[in-house]
Amino acid sequence: MKKTTNSRIFGAAVSCIAIAGITIASAAQAADIAVVHAGRLLATPGGAVSTEQTIVIRDGVIASIASGYIDAPDAGPNDRVTVHDLKDHFVLPGLIDSHVHVTSELGPGGKLAAVENSDADTVIIGARYAKRNLMAGFTTVRDVGARGEDAIFALRDGIARGDVIGPRIFASGNTISPTGGHGQSHGYNNEVFHVLKSSGVCDGVAECRKSVREQVRRSADHIKLVSTGGVLSDTAAGTGQQFFDDELKAIMDTAHAMGRQVTAHAHGADGVNAALRAGVDSIEHGTFANSESFRLFKRNGAYLVPTILAGVTVAELADDPDSFLPPPVREKAKQVGPQILEMTKAAHKAGVKIAFGTDTGVSKHGDNAREFSLLVEAGMTPMQAIRAATVVAAQHLGHYDKFGSIEAGKSADIIAVDGDPLADVTELEDVDFVMKEGVAYKAP
Ligand SMILES: [Zn+2]
Repeated sequence: MKKTTNSRIFGAAVSCIAIAGITIASAAQAADIAVVHAGRLLATPGGAVSTEQTIVIRDGVIASIASGYIDAPDAGPNDRVTVHDLKDHFVLPGLIDSHVHVTSELGPGGKLAAVENSDADTVIIGARYAKRNLMAGFTTVRDVGARGEDAIFALRDGIARGDVIGPRIFASGNTISPTGGHGQSHGYNNEVFHVLKSSGVCDGVAECRKSVREQVRRSADHIKLVSTGGVLSDTAAGTGQQFFDDELKAIMDTAHAMGRQVTAHAHGADGVNAALRAGVDSIEHGTFANSESFRLFKRNGAYLVPTILAGVTVAELADDPDSFLPPPVREKAKQVGPQILEMTKAAHKAGVKIAFGTDTGVSKHGDNAREFSLLVEAGMTPMQAIRAATVVAAQHLGHYDKFGSIEAGKSADIIAVDGDPLADVTELEDVDFVMKEGVAYKAP
């Protein structure tokens, strides 16, 4: 067997001969085999931790998990084998962030960037941010709203092809928002505003159907709508319901008919509950959710993605008199910021399904794991918080059959830390090893 030290050369050589349209693998077909020796292994968060385990990965897919440290069993003479020594580490599945904005990051230059950057610029900037998410241990992210035309889809597809280093991305494209609503551009003069028109802005049933169909045409994986006002829109329109019930229903029905899940940004209880009644699959933030909301969540099997880190981030900016936040934003941030943690406590107690999400892009790319200690503050055990970012988040995305745990047949998305995250969940803020689809991007 041929050993390589750099597993990044993966993906090159499967020798095949094509005869009359039929591809036949030659006898010398070589596989890329990665072997992980895990000192401690939490294969399925929520389950038991085992010690001294060997994970064998074949062409990016987990082939087997066995007790003890063994070298590539069944490797052929031409297979390329890489061994990752994590005997001193705690190994767990790659993390999933259900709420990010990969192509932007909140800062004083954000409003100008929207009119200065081309879509091409946005992809390049997004590539840098995407890599930071991956290196922080997040092998899958769900982008819930990107500006521009094709940048987020180009980035998603470039990463999937292996042209760009980053996490697996699921993307919604433009956010579906009413005119004047949270998902529209704000704080520009009218001339500039018209240049920034988004295909996601719609009013009334017919337009809202079209907006959803437009995102699907552009290859959106899911649909993101704003059910209520939001903190960072530069408009004093509060955080209550913005779409009417018939518009919400039109969005859900159109998306579901086209096989897309819908997630709703919502702060006010009226907008949280209206979206849940209309059949939304998940709620982002959910700041003022009440007992009726929790009842609806459980009745529908909907997920809550609280993004406590976003609340903390905007509250910190609102408390800083020198920060760049305009007055209407500052006002909303002071109300919403601290409330998200309190609501998460109540939701967790009520038994609502919580999927890990951060609103990274509001907070800094690469700081995603700060959400873990906030979830623990909200009453979760470290194990529950880790489960929210793996098993539950993968179920929420509808892809638990492909990733979210370390099991034979699943994608080899694997990370490791040198401490015990079940004793101190902040260990996950310093990830030492990151593998996505069998390729190691970071090693101790
Ligand atoms: Zn967001």
